[in-house]
This record gives sequence, C-alpha cells and structure tokens, in this order.
Amino acid sequence: MSLAHLPTPLERAGRLGEHLGIDDLWVKRDDLTGLALGGNKARKLELLLADALAQGADTLVTGGGPQSNHARITAAAAATAGLGCHLALAGPRPAHTDGNLLLDHLLGATLHFDGAIDYYDIERDIEQVAERLAAAGRRPYAIPVGGASVIGAAAYALAVDEVATQLATLDAAPFDWIVVADGSGGTQAGLLAGLGTTRTRVLGVDVGTRPDLDTAVPALAHATADHLGRPTDLGPTIVDHDHVGRAYGWATEGAVDAMRAAARTEGLILDPVYSAKAMHALTTHAREGSVTGRVLFWHTGGAPAMFAQEFERPLTR
Ligand SMILES: *Cc1c(COP(=O)(O)O)cnc(C)c1O
Repeated sequence: MSLAHLPTPLERAGRLGEHLGIDDLWVKRDDLTGLALGGNKARKLELLLADALAQGADTLVTGGGPQSNHARITAAAAATAGLGCHLALAGPRPAHTDGNLLLDHLLGATLHFDGAIDYYDIERDIEQVAERLAAAGRRPYAIPVGGASVIGAAAYALAVDEVATQLATLDAAPFDWIVVADGSGGTQAGLLAGLGTTRTRVLGVDVGTRPDLDTAVPALAHATADHLGRPTDLGPTIVDHDHVGRAYGWATEGAVDAMRAAARTEGLILDPVYSAKAMHALTTHAREGSVTGRVLFWHTGGAPAMFAQEFERPLTR
C-alpha cells in the first residue's frame, strides 16, 4: 500500500554537525513521511496494511502509550482503507485529550484504557482486544507495539535501499554510522537486515519502551533478513541504554538541550520521547569520539507528542 511520501529527503545538517563536532552530519527526514503528520511508522504500515488486507481483515488493532505515534499512524492507515481501528493504550485514561491522543479521536479510532503499564501487558491487551473483536464476528489484524513484526521491520530494510539510491545520485560515500531511536526496536532491526555486512554501523538509542532490546533487535533483524531472502549474516547490534532518563516518555534535560540545538541550528524539530534522546546520545558519543565520520541521524518523527500538556514544563524551563 502506498501511504508514505517516499523517498523522504536526505539532508546535510552542517550547522548542527559543527555544534556537535561531527564533520559530516546528515539527517534522513522520516519525520516527513506524510501520513497523518508522519513518522517512521508510516513505512511499516505500508506493508502491515497490505498484509492485513491480503488476510481479509476489517479492523486493525494495536497499542502503546497514550501518546503513541504508532497508534496514531495505524489509525490513519486504517482510515485510508476503510477499516476499523482499535487501540489498547497504557495506563488510565489521561485527563487531557491532547497530542497524538487528540489525533486518534479525530481519526476515528476506538480507544481502550485497560490500565496496563508494562510493555508485555500492553502486548497482551492488544491480543485480548483482537480476541474480543473476533468473538464478536469481526476480522481483526493485530499489530504488536511499534509495528515490530517481521513485516513491519522489513520496511526499514527497504529504506536502506532508498538511502543507497540517494547516495548514488549524490555520488556520495556510504555512512560510517546511522543513529536512530529504539522503541520496539523494529526500525533498528530492519536497518540491520537491510545493511547486511556493509561497513555502516547502527547505533540504536534505547528510550525505555521495552527491557529486552539487546536480544529482541538481533533476533528480529535475523528473521527480517530471512523473510526478505537476504543474507542473514548481519552487523553487530549496538544499543545505547544510557540516555533513557527516569523512564519512557520522561523528557530528560539532555534531550531538551538536544531539541534546542537542532531547532536553533537547523530549524529542525525533534520530539521529546524518541528523537531528542537519540540526538542526546549522538551528542555524547560525538564528544567521546565513539561516533565519528560520516553520520546519518535517522529522524523518526514524533512531534505531535510534544503538544501533550505534560511536555509544556520541560520544554519551557
Ligand atoms: C516508534 C518510534 C520510534 C522507534 O521505532 P521502533 O521501530 O519502535 O524502535 C522512534 N521515533 C518515533 C518518533 C517513534 O514514534
């Protein structure tokens, strides 16, 4: 299904690179994938929606935090195909309907707040909502948190090919590093599957979504490469766990500083939950000299979450 505006721009970020001490910094603008304000999940939903329709589904079911970008984009994808959408969202129903939650309403999704907080409980809630729908005669298609199935991750193996084509057009060398935020890990896994044993390393930055990235990412990368019929000999899984802060969804001071730096050097808007923590990690690694050379920061989107009330204080202090 064609849902995303592709290819997304590949842009040089000279002023931000200078600020960070990186000679050659580029940004892959997957915040501009278009569908319902964009983000990385639009790529995954192209393949997931196609699979759902091939299976005869009439309803998409997924979940995440109340400010889940994946939930918002799944609701939009369902709308484009005339399917229903049910979302199992973490915790109690929030006092304010803002940010992504407001968009979920606008897009017509049915929301379930079952109180689950833990990652695995949300995954179980998604399955339970799907089972209830099936028992009521619907044909649900359940999508895990973050769209991190083999089919969802495959979209990011294909995105590696997109960047290779863009680099060939620019007559530019491959990147030494790709830096990306890790939620469910599906994006990093897909990138690893697409890169194979090329020299480009991927630094995934844990934002606190799930506790098992170190094992889940390589397993999903391997399964995704296998699914696509590509070599399953892959590069190392490198995950930074040092920039989560207090928990998933809490804006750290370093993340807010990174948002300011991107905004004030490039007019580039990051989000406080994912891309700002990834940029904070890149700032640290650039200073320590552990990430150098030609660096691609993969911007995964997420800006709508910053308009949730909880981010007013951290973003204005
Ligand atoms: C979901 C998401 C991520 C993480 O992607 P995963 O494939 O779940 O690891 C990063 N940034 C934003 C804005 C997201 O919504």
